[in-house]
Parts: sequence; C-alpha cells; structure tokens
Amino acid sequence: MDAYDVIIIGTGAGGGTLARHLAPSGKRILLLERGDWLTREPQNWDTAEVFVDNRYISADTWYDASGKTFQPQIHYFVGGATKLYGAALYRLRKEDFGELRHHDGISPAWPISYEDLEQYYTLAEQQYEVHGARGEDPTEPPASAPYPFPAVSHEPRIQQLADELEAEGYHPFHAPCGVRLDEGNTPYSHCVRCSTCDGFPCLVHAKSDAEVLGVRPALEHANVTLLTNAQAVKLETDAAGTTVAGVVVEHDGNTERYEGSIVVVACGAANTAKLLLLSANDKHPNGLANGSDQVGRNYMFHASEAVLALSRDENPTVFQKTLGLNDFYFGSDDHDYPLGNIQMVGKSQAPMFHGEKPMETKLAPGWTLEKIAKHAIDFWLSTEDLPLPENRVTVDGEGRLTLAYRPSNDVPKQELYKKLKSIIGELRMEGDHLFGRFAYMKNDIPVAGCAHQAGTCRFGTDPDTSVLDVDCKAHELDNLYVVDTSVFPSIGAVNPALTAMANSLRVGDHLLDRLGATVPVAAEAAA
Ligand SMILES: Cc1cc2nc3c(=O)[nH]c(=O)nc-3n(C[C@H](O)[C@H](O)[C@H](O)COP(=O)(O)OP(=O)(O)OC[C@H]3O[C@@H](n4cnc5c(N)ncnc54)[C@H](O)[C@@H]3O)c2cc1C
Ligand code: SF4
Repeated sequence: MDAYDVIIIGTGAGGGTLARHLAPSGKRILLLERGDWLTREPQNWDTAEVFVDNRYISADTWYDASGKTFQPQIHYFVGGATKLYGAALYRLRKEDFGELRHHDGISPAWPISYEDLEQYYTLAEQQYEVHGARGEDPTEPPASAPYPFPAVSHEPRIQQLADELEAEGYHPFHAPCGVRLDEGNTPYSHCVRCSTCDGFPCLVHAKSDAEVLGVRPALEHANVTLLTNAQAVKLETDAAGTTVAGVVVEHDGNTERYEGSIVVVACGAANTAKLLLLSANDKHPNGLANGSDQVGRNYMFHASEAVLALSRDENPTVFQKTLGLNDFYFGSDDHDYPLGNIQMVGKSQAPMFHGEKPMETKLAPGWTLEKIAKHAIDFWLSTEDLPLPENRVTVDGEGRLTLAYRPSNDVPKQELYKKLKSIIGELRMEGDHLFGRFAYMKNDIPVAGCAHQAGTCRFGTDPDTSVLDVDCKAHELDNLYVVDTSVFPSIGAVNPALTAMANSLRVGDHLLDRLGATVPVAAEAAA
C-alpha cells in the first residue's frame, strides 16, 4: 500500500485541472478515475453512434423521486464530461457571486467574490486555450487579461445572424470556445473545424478538454500516477473521524486501499455526493462531512432547452457554436427578473433526430428531417435553476442513487423562449417554426439530462448550511476537499465548466501552500 501526498478522485474539469496545477510541485499525486481512456476511433465522429446508440454514455441506472429508473447522461472517462462537452467556456457574471432575486426566489451568494476568482478564471482560460473577444457582451465581468486566443470566426450564416441581431439593437457576441483552432495557420491547427464537436469526443484531440489539457500535462511529471478503471467506493476515516485515512477502490476487479495526506473528491456533483454518503461510519452516521445534512442537497442543472429555428435560407454552417446573446441575462424591459443566456448549440444533423425525441414533422408540413436539418439554426437556452434543498441525491443501502428534482424558474424559462421566438420572427426565419430539440436533454425524463449537474456539496462559511469551507475543505474533516461542480452554491445561467476549472485552480493554490510547495499562479500562467 502506497502513501501519497494528494489523492484526486475523478479526472474531469475539477480533478483534471487540479492535477495539472499540482503536478509541478513534485508532490506524490495519485489520480483515481473510474473510467478508461476514451478510445480514439472513427465512431467518435459518427452521429448515429454518439446520439442514437449512446456509445459514450455510462450504463448506470439511477432512480427519480418516484422510483422510476433512468439512464443518466453521464460520461466515465479520463477527462470526465469534458470529453463530450461543447467547450463553451464562460465566466459566471460578477453579479452571480452575489445574491440575486429570481422569479421563483433567491439565488444565494457565493462565499467568495468574483474578484477572488478573477485571476483563476484568467489562468483557466490560458490553460484551456479559450478563444473569445472581450468587450462585445455587455454583461461580461471585468477581466485582467485578454482572451489568450482570438475569437472563433462566425461562418457566413451565423455572421448574418449576428449582423441582423445587431441591426435590431441586440448585443450578440463571439462565444468563448475551447477549441484549439488556428484560423491564421490552418495547416498547423489542431482543430479542423468539424460539425461533430458539441456532444461528441474530438477524434484529433483538438478540444480543450480535461484529458488533453489537464491529465496529460500532469502525467508528464514523474510524481503523478493515474489509475484508470479505479472507482473509489468508500472513504475511511481514522478512529476519531477527523481525517480521511484511506480510499477504498475497486480497481480492475480487485479491492485496493490507498492513503494520502490530502484527499480531493471530484467525481461530478451526483457521484461526489454518492461517495460521501456511502462513506458513512459511526462518527459520521449520515455520511462523511454531512453533519449539516447538506450533502446531496441543492442539486442544480439549469433550466435548459435546445431549440431549432428554420431559416428560410439553408444553413450550411459547420461549427455553429460561435455566437452568444446575454441581452436577457438579468431581465428585460418587461421582466425585472433574470431570464438567462442564449447561445448556439452544435448544428443539427438528420440522424440526431432519431436519437432524440422523434421530431414531429407535422409541425413543418412537407419538410423532411433532412430538409429541417439543412435549414435549422440551433439555439441553446439556459435559465438559472435555484438550489432547492429537496432537490437532492440520496443513496440506499445497496448503493442505488436516487435523484429527486423539481424544476424552478419555469416562468423565466418560458419567457426566454418567447423572447427568442419574437426575435427570430424579426429575422429571416420562419417565426412559427421554433421546435424543441432534445440534444443533451432527454426531455421525456428531464432529470436524465444531467450534463450541467452542480450543487450537492456547497461551500460556505457556516457549517450548519454548507458542506465545505471557503477553501473547499470539508468543515468536519482535516484533509478532505472537493473541487468539482458540486461546490457551487448557485449555478448562474452560463455553462459551468470554466468556473469549476477556475475554482479548482484556486483550491490548488491553497493546497500548494498547505503542502509547502507554492507554485505562484503568475509563474505558471507565464509558463
Ligand atoms: C454533452 C455535454 C456538453 C456540455 N457542454 C458544456 C459546455 O459547452 N460548456 C461547459 O462549461 N460545460 C459543458 N458541459 C458540462 C461540463 O462538462 C461539466 O460541467 C464539467 O465537466 C463538470 O466537471 P466535474 O469535474 O464536476 O465533473 P466531470 O467532468 O464529469 O468529472 C468527474 C469525473 O469523476 C469520475 N468519477 C465519478 N465517480 C468516480 C468514482 N467513484 N471514482 C473515481 N472516479 C469517479 C468520472 O468518471 C469523471 O471522469 C457539458 C456536458 C456534457 C455532458
Ligand atoms: S471542431 Fe475542432 S475541437 Fe471540435 S471536434 Fe472538430 S476538430 Fe475537434
């Protein structure tokens, strides 16, 4: 049995980013990942394999509040969900860190301010090679550095959309993208700008995911070890219950135990809560770090919707995810509560519709699925959902995970949809033809679309209402940390990954300090 300085459980946005940040310290680091490397194979870019046959979705069975089973849209690989993500790498708005009044209630403040995280957002944008343009989005928070790479250009149909939106008085902006595209030097560009990005793995490793830009750079350091197919099943404490003394792991069919001075959990919001709950012992009868009864609670995943508008002209766009619109993020002239973010989603392709809820072609009489796909302009609408205590992950004696979820902010979600509908009516699109698209969100079982899962182990200053302290260390244990999206006290209405990465870097600096191995942020940013 080996003893490590740090054990990191999970290698996604949170864990993979932390591994890279800690690696240059020379400390002995063990990465435990329940999945394997995602195989590079032609099927990575095969729409039917990915969207119809769910080739890269785990076979897990979870339960909803009524006991009904569902297959969560969850991905167990080195790099976690970022292997499949759309790589829209947004910062939360500055105001998201404060308390915000929403239609259905209060979105609580974070225990840190935007300013506390700003330098780490900048570092995360550098590590994940984010392409973007500052100064276009009126809601964007202040930044201490420009984006490290220029914005990904709009293709002609999306440029036309941007121009028309601007002419109507809106403020479209170039969306921040984590694709390693060099438009000025395409022969040397990692990214080939393909149509199979959002929701697909990248066959050529050009997506800024946590395998390529987190785990692999970490593994260049001899002090970092990765175990794949290694699922942490229990955290054991010392007799006093104050320190995690061992991590029990199912590894390639064997049960193993590892020890680390510091243990960091980054399994994704649902699985992090599951691991803590399964680690109950006589000192922690309700689950590890759960004296407050907050572990598993306050689950969020955005009130989201993918919709497609039918353009009168064909939309031959290949890489569509280049435009965003935040004009309604905090409300509108006729709404004094936040509505949310509008962005593009990967261009629809006819085979996708077969994997989604069957498209009702009767809504567009005479239109085949192929014709719909050719004319589709696809949007992704996100409204913030609130951290409700009854929205929670629980685990039974057999380790079965139940996810109870009641939607919130349904009114702003509908109002955001109406806003988009009225906008497209003003543009060169069929105003009546705005369809629900079910990419990511299996809307027949809403809880299954857990791509943006967050909450379950929120950080805060009060041990009675939070699981973790401001450094994301469990209030009740000396050496247990969490660095994934489960720490979010509220989720905002933009995509969560960059915030998880930035917070992981912030916690990483705390850990380096604690280990006596400070690697200054500025030095690493310059490296
Ligand atoms: C299709 C899709 C599209 C998305 N698009 C975007 C986007 O455009 N922009 C954005 O910001 N976000 C996007 N997201 C969300 C984003 O990917 C997640 O917010 C982010 O990856 C969460 O990071 P995490 O560290 O919390 O969890 P993950 O990245 O999921 O990492 C958790 C890791 O822990 C491992 N694990 C779980 N349990 C155990 C265990 N017991 N033992 C060992 N290992 C374990 C998992 O295998 C996984 O590797 C998308 C997600 C999906 C699925
Ligand atoms: S668009 Fe670029 S990053 Fe995305 S899958 Fe294609 S090659 Fe990879």
